Amino acid sequence: MPSDPKPGTLYLVSTPIGNLEDMSFRAVRILQSVDLIAAEDTRHTGKLLHHFQITTPQLSYHDHNRQSRTSELLERLQQGKAIALVTDAGTPGISDPGYELTKACAEAGIPVVPIPGPSAAIAALAASGLASDRFVFEGFLPAKAQARRAHLETLKPETRTLIFYEAPHRLRATLQDLQILGTERQLVLARELTKLHEELWRGTVGEATVLYSDREPQGEFTLVVAGAPLNQATLSEAAIITELQSLLKQGLSRSAASRQLAQETDLPRRQIYQLALSLPEEF
Ligand code: SAM
Repeated sequence: MPSDPKPGTLYLVSTPIGNLEDMSFRAVRILQSVDLIAAEDTRHTGKLLHHFQITTPQLSYHDHNRQSRTSELLERLQQGKAIALVTDAGTPGISDPGYELTKACAEAGIPVVPIPGPSAAIAALAASGLASDRFVFEGFLPAKAQARRAHLETLKPETRTLIFYEAPHRLRATLQDLQILGTERQLVLARELTKLHEELWRGTVGEATVLYSDREPQGEFTLVVAGAPLNQATLSEAAIITELQSLLKQGLSRSAASRQLAQETDLPRRQIYQLALSLPEEF
């Protein structure tokens, strides 16, 4: 069992994404016993702390003050204070404040301890039923239509499962633009996870666009999109090597892995086998 919070340590504490029962015992204990809680929104976190009868003082740490606050918090950590960082929901640093402070601590040699817990991306992926062995977390797409479309164009050949966060007022526009990946792509809309109106809608990008042209998007959404089928993707050499490594790790021989990949991609088996031979024994 881990001991009490150590001085001069930053704790990244995950909090529920909608259901207070998802708060871990360890998260409560750490929040109770650190010297200070840095919170994205102190009023929002105040309710959580009240629920768990935690009386630790708070300080705000959000997008608009994080530059000045990062050095202030770093100083306190260097003085030996134990500090917990929380955001409004989920895991700090995942499309949320936390990265700068964590980076600053890493550079200054200050210990950083994660207190794992809810994250909408992982919950949505796990429940999606789409391939979860390899995935790409994309966070929020650019808000401006042109930049969003350009970014989606670059994601078109991506064969790994894609995860996006989206605000309800942008969902329709995003679904419209996701058609760049193909209207037949499988999509899971994970809405209001862990809450009363939790919903996992499964269908294609095209079907979702039609559905939401009638339906007003309400609540919080995480989108999980199937990757491009291997044989439709523009396979770079690097992508073939990644596929080969994955098959070799599963225990296939170089020859069997090359044969399987050739069948899946319509690429010449010999070309893939040459690449397989170039891989080191251990990777
Ligand atoms: N750090 C958080 C995490 O680890 O999940 C994410 C914070 S990000 C600012 C907020 C976005 O997460 C929302 O816009 C939504 O896309 C997604 N999200 C948060 N809670 C959710 C929920 N209960 N159901 C589905 N998506 C959720």
